Amino acid sequence: MPIYEYRCSDCRAVTSVMAPISRANAPCPCERCGSERTRRIVSRPSVHLSNLSKLERLDPKYDKMVDRAMENTRGADPDRLINRRGDISKGLPDKT
Ligand SMILES: [Zn+2]
Repeated sequence: MPIYEYRCSDCRAVTSVMAPISRANAPCPCERCGSERTRRIVSRPSVHLSNLSKLERLDPKYDKMVDRAMENTRGADPDRLINRRGDISKGLPDKT
């Protein structure tokens, strides 16, 4: 459903309404003052983006911020896996 915008002739406030195309020319009272003297105005188009598109549009500086934050997490430490295995000098457990 498109979003229509109406400007109030009395207080100049803009009211946005999501409505079916069939209601595009229906009157819409002003949200602020309740006046019926509103006119539909041309609103800027809104675009729905996928999450991938939103990520691609992010400023590259956020990549660096995320990388820096990841470097400081415990999961990013390569020694973590070695430490989890325990002491290697004890050798492998006996196969009995
Ligand atoms: Zn108004």
